Amino acid sequence: MSVLLNPTTSSLFGTSALAGDTTESTGSPMVRIEDLCHRYGERTALDGVSFVICPAEIFGLLGPNGSGKTTIFRILSTLMLPSGGRAVISGYDIAHNPSDVRRQIGVVFQASSIDIKLTAAENLRAVGHLYGIKGAALAARVGEMLGRVGLSDRAGERAETFSGGMRRRLELAKGLLHHPSVLLLDEPTTGLDPGARRDLWQYLSILRDQEHVTVLVTTHLMEEAERCDRLAILSQGKLVALGTPTELKQEIGGDVIVLETRQIPESLAEKIFNRFGLPAQVIGGKLRLEKEQGHRFAAEVVEAFPGEIESISVSKPNLEDVFIHRTGHRFWTEEDAQAGDRAIRASANRKGSHKG
Ligand code: ADP
Repeated sequence: MSVLLNPTTSSLFGTSALAGDTTESTGSPMVRIEDLCHRYGERTALDGVSFVICPAEIFGLLGPNGSGKTTIFRILSTLMLPSGGRAVISGYDIAHNPSDVRRQIGVVFQASSIDIKLTAAENLRAVGHLYGIKGAALAARVGEMLGRVGLSDRAGERAETFSGGMRRRLELAKGLLHHPSVLLLDEPTTGLDPGARRDLWQYLSILRDQEHVTVLVTTHLMEEAERCDRLAILSQGKLVALGTPTELKQEIGGDVIVLETRQIPESLAEKIFNRFGLPAQVIGGKLRLEKEQGHRFAAEVVEAFPGEIESISVSKPNLEDVFIHRTGHRFWTEEDAQAGDRAIRASANRKGSHKG
């Protein structure tokens, strides 16, 4: 069962948390990434990625496995240096001022960092000591954070008795204990039930709205990406799209139509192009088209090719469609896509034999 996080407790972050941080007060980016590149040996993990994250926004890094999200996360959390390019947080360069960066960021890793043999309060006190917070200030802060993440009544219990959602909230409390202005979370809802996921996202919104914390979340889940204020979509180490979820979906400028046929999909794609001048992608054996007023087109295409279309669906574009639109392959099966799944566009450079 999920526990509602407490949004009403007084401010987590005193004004001192951001004092002197001119980037926040002037509205300049809190995070700036410029032409970031990284190689692991021969493998290119990041290939010239650039974007900025504004103060108090929830920014999502969305991409399939292997797209480079964790590599960016590791670089921003100062765990490793990039092979090329720059990353700056709150005005501090991660390569030149890593300890200043560390004071600005709270980090929640995918892998658990809590000590399950310690109580919730002991886990937080240990973090406080690392940051030099002591005595009454530490006790107050620990109590405040436990309240904020709904764990006050479990403060004295060992973390090994906690559910996955409770442990994740304790992780979050650890990441926020030292008043960071930027919170970095790597796939934070992995392993959580739907209720615990909702709670976590609700809490991130509270952090943004009430405490003006800037949040970076990596995710491969579309429904989580939809909750972000803005998104960077990555594929194979490259930035393929950047914007609000609504802006990104609007770029498709129509409906998404998916057709199934028993015939060779590429040949139906060609026929559709010749008849309607509309390029189709063949993905996973299905034809995918983008068209305004898709329901009308659906009727026309079924009529134009009687008996050839097995099924047809028309839907509004989602973020996966944005990914397909930009990359020409599916989100979940990049390897399949590379290996065999020909994502063809009945391309405009084909000599136009269509009848319009
Ligand atoms: P994501 O978090 O989106 O799944 P990663 O940043 O983990 O992507 O990985 C990007 C690419 O870098 C992948 O091809 C991955 O196999 C490779 N990679 C990641 N970590 C290492 C490593 N420690 N050594 C070698 N290759 C790595």
